[in-house]
Amino acid sequence: MVRSPYFTPDHAAFRERTREFLTAEVMPSAAAWEREGGLPRSLWKSFGEQGYLGLLHPRSAGGGERDLFTSVVFLEELGRTGFGGLRAAVSVHAYMATHYLAAAGTPGLRRDYLGPALRGESVAALAITEPGAGADLSGLTTTAERDGDCFVVRGVKTMVSNGTVADFHVVAVRTSPDTGSGPHGTTGLSLLVVDSDLPGVTTTPTPTLGWCAAGTATVAYEDVHVPADRLIGRASSGFYYLMRGLQLERLVAATLALGGMERCLDDTRHYLTERRLFGSTLSELQAPAHRIADLATELAAARQLVHHAAWLYEQGELPTTECSMAKLYTTELACRMADASLQLQGAHGYLDSSGAARTYRDARAATIAAGPSEVMRDLIGHAVLRTRPSSGAGRTGGQERA
Ligand SMILES: Cc1cc2nc3c(=O)[nH]c(=O)nc-3n(C[C@H](O)[C@H](O)[C@H](O)COP(=O)(O)OP(=O)(O)OC[C@H]3O[C@@H](n4cnc5c(N)ncnc54)[C@H](O)[C@@H]3O)c2cc1C
Repeated sequence: MVRSPYFTPDHAAFRERTREFLTAEVMPSAAAWEREGGLPRSLWKSFGEQGYLGLLHPRSAGGGERDLFTSVVFLEELGRTGFGGLRAAVSVHAYMATHYLAAAGTPGLRRDYLGPALRGESVAALAITEPGAGADLSGLTTTAERDGDCFVVRGVKTMVSNGTVADFHVVAVRTSPDTGSGPHGTTGLSLLVVDSDLPGVTTTPTPTLGWCAAGTATVAYEDVHVPADRLIGRASSGFYYLMRGLQLERLVAATLALGGMERCLDDTRHYLTERRLFGSTLSELQAPAHRIADLATELAAARQLVHHAAWLYEQGELPTTECSMAKLYTTELACRMADASLQLQGAHGYLDSSGAARTYRDARAATIAAGPSEVMRDLIGHAVLRTRPSSGAGRTGGQERA
């Protein structure tokens, strides 16, 4: 257990319990789920029964209403499994798609969608990205046109994690043209819950380099009639909800990366101490030892950055800059660490079946998903360079995607 002022003995006990659960329920089958390209229903149910899918959600919605550091523990442990697809699938469901339902959903949406999702009876996806627009939300073109008591949805979403298995999608749509009253191209956006089995919804699996168990898909919506009461919050306020939700998304991505790096460092250390060459073990050679020293030092710095951002978030602030820094630093460090780990494991690491190869592939996704590193640098740069803090620029981040 890492000693830290942020964690209590209760967190330590929760970490132990969570690690035991993941060791028993996840690790024996995780590689098979990677090959199959998705998680089984039974696993979602187990996560739900343990309360893991609703740690942060309010009790009134069926969640555990635990403090943020309980989620930090859960996400670190989930990351520590070393399976990026698993951690993406679970976090998109528990901290991204369902977050919007908890934050702004009507009692009906909470009852019909959030409750079953937190119990693991249904699976949620978040569908924002389109073939023509990702980082730049102003380019989103999927529309939801009001027709009586329905919205008619037309458009295509891509890179939808959980897309192959989700029962419902939280979809970013245009319910009205941009009025220009906010950041360019963002004022007409809304969030809508769309059942994946509605007529007109077509899901096509999209194999990816890593995160293979995340069930990534492209989803086409062709004249899909969605009851109007599936709107999350106010119409045309989607950008506002996204800007708030995306801070949590970045923090979650950073925390998962922390856990993933703990695992990567453990695996590398194990290999170095076992592998014999030139009459000793690799760990006794100075070059690998120094490489490990650098990575362990950077990981310790990353941990403080993430925990501090989480602490600020817990205080009720919206620490855009700190969340961006945490996401940027951890996900890029995870790539460097995965690269070093593979190099240090030689040809063993390069085998397609090796953990080092999977870590390498998985790490690569995280500097793009939940907002590319360049967008994080834009946000941090604006915040650092702005001369008048009261201007607000950089705090909510323009129209760029996180
Ligand atoms: C594994 C994975 C899972 C994902 N899961 C989901 C999901 O569940 N739901 C969902 O909606 N989306 C998901 N995404 C999509 C993700 O959010 C987008 O990939 C991301 O927002 C970037 O959009 P884009 O890929 O269209 O890249 P673009 O917006 O086309 O950008 C391309 C590249 O341009 C550069 N760039 C972008 N902005 C700037 C800038 N301001 N300055 C300089 N350079 C810039 C970056 O290098 C970026 O990678 C996922 C992506 C990945 C890789």
